[in-house]
Amino acid sequence: MGKHRIAVVGGGFTGLAAATVLSQKNDIIEVDLFEKNSHLGGLAAGFKEPGWNSALEYYYHHWFDSDQSLKKFAALWGATEKLCFKDLLTVIETRAGGFVPLDSAMALLKYPALDMPDKLRMGVVLAYLKATRSWKTLERVTAEEWCIRYMGEKGFNEIWKPLLVGKFGPQYASVVNMAWLWARITARTKKLGTYRGGFQALIEDVGAYLRARGVQIRLSCGDLAIDKSDSPTARLRVRNSAGDAGQYSAVLMATSPFAFVKATEGLVSPDLGPTLLDRPSLGVQVVILSLREALNSRQKNYWYSLRKREDQPFLALVEHTHFVPETEFGGEHIVYLANYVDPGEPDWRLSDDELRALALPTCRRINPEFDPASIRRSWVFRERYAQPLMLKDASRDLPPIRIPGVEGLYFGSMAHVYPWDRGTNFALELGERIAWMMLEDLGLR
Ligand SMILES: Cc1cc2nc3c(=O)[nH]c(=O)nc-3n(C[C@H](O)[C@H](O)[C@H](O)COP(=O)(O)OP(=O)(O)OC[C@H]3O[C@@H](n4cnc5c(N)ncnc54)[C@H](O)[C@@H]3O)c2cc1C
Repeated sequence: MGKHRIAVVGGGFTGLAAATVLSQKNDIIEVDLFEKNSHLGGLAAGFKEPGWNSALEYYYHHWFDSDQSLKKFAALWGATEKLCFKDLLTVIETRAGGFVPLDSAMALLKYPALDMPDKLRMGVVLAYLKATRSWKTLERVTAEEWCIRYMGEKGFNEIWKPLLVGKFGPQYASVVNMAWLWARITARTKKLGTYRGGFQALIEDVGAYLRARGVQIRLSCGDLAIDKSDSPTARLRVRNSAGDAGQYSAVLMATSPFAFVKATEGLVSPDLGPTLLDRPSLGVQVVILSLREALNSRQKNYWYSLRKREDQPFLALVEHTHFVPETEFGGEHIVYLANYVDPGEPDWRLSDDELRALALPTCRRINPEFDPASIRRSWVFRERYAQPLMLKDASRDLPPIRIPGVEGLYFGSMAHVYPWDRGTNFALELGERIAWMMLEDLGLR
């Protein structure tokens, strides 16, 4: 019997993990990895300007020290030595407008805008959240209800409400479930990680690993459509604008729901598309500033959680070169500003120049002496599917991985990593899980 052929569509971390697991069986399986961009990496990809040693992620990225799947895959790829973890400073904006750390029990005790009983109560509740694994009970209530009940209204309004409003906007902040916040709190570590040369350097190392194991990586693959195969030895056929791109025993779509629905139109049940597309999710707008000097040269803060206001849409400002030194970027100091937006809202249509202009007062809040003349250049990036929203009882209504009615078709997206929040570590875990499902269904496990 010939080898089974499997297609993985999407070269983000989910697709890379699935291709990695499948490539371990290259004596019995041939794997084709289709990616619409000219590079692998998806949302975690990066770009490199002339004179830079490191690539810069289009969207700020780091790992937590608790990211076990990342560490496991890095060992398999021979990449462990290039992982770099460091203690980094993260600060949160207080109601009064200052920035203070909130990354340890001691920092919480010193937090200026809460009374000691509120701080002690919050400390106990946070310790519980770090320790518990009972997320199923937490998903039955909203984060707002749960935090007010257990941490008190004052603590919620001071710390958690601005974070939820910053991330999800006022329209969704009160409906996100508590399991989402639990996942954020429990996975978080003070030590954050990156890869020598940036995430893109890891992605390229993974590409080389896969090619060496016979995986055919088909970049810039164009629009794909998947339908039933008419071959007796395959189940599904992948087509692109040039015609037949391959016949496969199984296909994994490791993409956003939008790309899944588009590529599988006519193949999957007509009811499935609307249920996938109606799930709420947010887009993201990211402004990257390259500065002549550090934005904050007095304190090496890496991450600022900001309070959203009329004139200040950004949820976070990340001084990247307080993590990866500016010498990696030819002396340029790199700052990201991120705004999550419902693509149905008018703010989604803000132009690049409008977003750049909004970034200036935010920089001044961090450094009142900030001079726009210190901006050498800037970039603006947007992504339509950046953050799925998880509402009450989300686990009862997750999108399917095995697609009903279409044998051999699988789907993996950021929504599938629930109860975890989106993240490359969980994308790896998901890709691995789906690869094992495919092997099991083909009787190859
Ligand atoms: C602003 C932002 C910040 C983030 N920060 C972090 C962080 O600090 N740490 C962290 O771990 N994670 C972070 N994440 C999350 C992380 O990027 C994602 O969880 C992860 O990249 C998801 O991987 P994926 O493979 O599931 O999806 P994606 O990365 O979206 O990959 C999907 C791939 O499919 C391709 N594709 C789509 N349609 C087609 C098609 N028709 N044919 C072929 N290919 C197609 C896309 O081009 C893409 O390469 C962040 C995300 C965002 C948006």
